[in-house]
Amino acid sequence: MICASWFVLRSHVILQTLRRGLRGRCPQCGEGPLFVRFIKAHERCSACGLLYQRDYGDTWLFIIITDRIPMLFGVAALYFGFRPENWLANAAFFLALALPIVATIRYRVGLALALNYLSGRWFA
Ligand SMILES: [Zn+2]
Repeated sequence: MICASWFVLRSHVILQTLRRGLRGRCPQCGEGPLFVRFIKAHERCSACGLLYQRDYGDTWLFIIITDRIPMLFGVAALYFGFRPENWLANAAFFLALALPIVATIRYRVGLALALNYLSGRWFA
């Protein structure tokens, strides 16, 4: 029973932290904004003082991982037999992959910063 409640509490904290990152808020307090402008992150949280990127290499790892999420749809389409036959179909396929990548970049960077925060909190 203690293990189950510990797991529920921990998973709640993880989901809350990821939600804060997706909303562009500080993963620790949820108050301070993550971004100065589009995807340029503040150095620290204005509310709690959390240093967002202690090591840029760690954040970069999570950015690479979250960048691959939209690509999974293209890989899945090719895997399940989608083959563009002409240049128009190739261009449409490229746009169908590129537009979600560009449209979701701010959310994915926020998610990467939240994942970086979680990794530093539990694995450092
Ligand atoms: Zn904060």
